[in-house]
Amino acid sequence: APLSTADIREKFLQFFESKGHLRLPSHSTVAPDPTTLFTVAGMQPFKEQFMGAPASFPGYGDSRRVTTAQKCLRIGDIENVGRTLRHCSLLEMLGNFSFGDYFKREALTWAWEFLTSPEWMGLDKSRLYATIYQDDEEAFQIWTGENGLSADRILRFGADENFWPADAPKEGPNGPCGPCSEIFYDRGPAYGDDTWAEYADTRESARFLEIWNCVFPQYDRQEPLPDGTPVLKDLPFKNIDTGMGLERIATVVQDVYDFYSNDVFAPIVAKVAELSGQPYEGPQNVSHRVVAEHIRSVSMVIADGTALSNTGRGYTARKILRRASRHAYLLGLREPALHTLVPIVVEKMGGAYPELRENAARVEAAVKAEEERFLKTLEGGIQRLGGLLGTMEKGTTLSGEDAFVLYDTYGFPVDLTKEIAEEYGVTVDEAGYAESLEKAQETARAGSKYGKSELFGGNQSAFDGLSPTPFVGYDELDTQAEVL
Ligand code: ATP
Ligand code: MG
Ligand code: MG
Ligand code: MG
Repeated sequence: APLSTADIREKFLQFFESKGHLRLPSHSTVAPDPTTLFTVAGMQPFKEQFMGAPASFPGYGDSRRVTTAQKCLRIGDIENVGRTLRHCSLLEMLGNFSFGDYFKREALTWAWEFLTSPEWMGLDKSRLYATIYQDDEEAFQIWTGENGLSADRILRFGADENFWPADAPKEGPNGPCGPCSEIFYDRGPAYGDDTWAEYADTRESARFLEIWNCVFPQYDRQEPLPDGTPVLKDLPFKNIDTGMGLERIATVVQDVYDFYSNDVFAPIVAKVAELSGQPYEGPQNVSHRVVAEHIRSVSMVIADGTALSNTGRGYTARKILRRASRHAYLLGLREPALHTLVPIVVEKMGGAYPELRENAARVEAAVKAEEERFLKTLEGGIQRLGGLLGTMEKGTTLSGEDAFVLYDTYGFPVDLTKEIAEEYGVTVDEAGYAESLEKAQETARAGSKYGKSELFGGNQSAFDGLSPTPFVGYDELDTQAEVL
């Protein structure tokens, strides 16, 4: 039988233990620093160590080599779920890190060994490709030397693809960064007839799947110059930060079409099919996929202590759950059903993440309560929006005010409205929506003696550990993950 997701996670951690790494547990989905709401990468809990802080991990020991499986939530990818073959909203990032210890040669040869050795993943070498930063001759030499990759399998890109993170957030400097080298797997002609050389132009392929990003953080990003020129200062030493998506490698190793047929998602998808009476037949069944993926994210986020609310993390979690609810509704489910999927998530993920087991009852109850609330309003909203869209011509625009009323009265996040409108070929006046929202917020603010967080019905805990003015507006929350 092919390796399970749990087997792959364990093998990864064991492989790097065998190379002298200390295994540490995943950090919470709540970000360790205020640059993002949620943890978005395996490296995020280690920014201090990359910057030169002692590599001491109380309760675990000291080590300049560390390995983890980190749960990450990428808000910017929520809308990709169900649309691309490669994006989850919650992902597990398998990582190995060096704090001024080993560098490129070990990182790239170990990655190659883990992927291709029959003892580990045993992938077919002839399906692997790599990208490097434009002038990174060192990486080129390692790929074509020790790893034996022919030069035509290596593409060079600029900072947009092969420097991580590519940009500083608007707020200011974001610390450790550097060039990177990524590993791609050719899923074969069943996914497209494009070639690797063409990927240089398209940068988008269902066939060539990015599986592993090996980053070489050697700079500390400073405040850019007034004209926007980036300022990179050398870090005290050179580091390694790698991240491989567990969902992606599992899908490749199990040789299934996509995430939704792997050992974690398939049983959830099957349960969705059973509950709805609608068989799952593949990627065309977007709703099954969205429901299965989102229930996993929301379960983890709630288990980590984020309560569903109208601000910050709680708002994002609610938005993900509502998106799942809407898709369950589209499948014909008119009663709360998502909460009955939680036990499958717990069964599949609870071994690696005991917090899921410990909080299972609380997660189920929170999901059910939110489903009940949302179903009531959803019905009204879908009817109202359907009525509006039914009278509109393709290519026209729904007014910002209409979108705001849907949000305000029926709890429709604007992205949901956009998604439904898209099905009618109608766009949404987002600027107008933002204006209406701002106006309503000002009115509410003027009538309240309380601060922002109370004003938005907020749960103060959503702001724990964040700067005093973390509220950046709903739309920016969507891009924040991409920014880090
Ligand atoms: P993509 O270009 O496919 O969006 P990325 O370049 O944004 O991926 P990185 O920031 O390099 O991803 O993250 C490291 C690895 O994490 C990726 O190589 C991939 O295996 C995995 N990964 C990133 N985003 C997702 C996601 N939304 N769902 C599943 N896996 C992901
Ligand atoms: Mg990428
Ligand atoms: Mg990448
Ligand atoms: Mg991405």
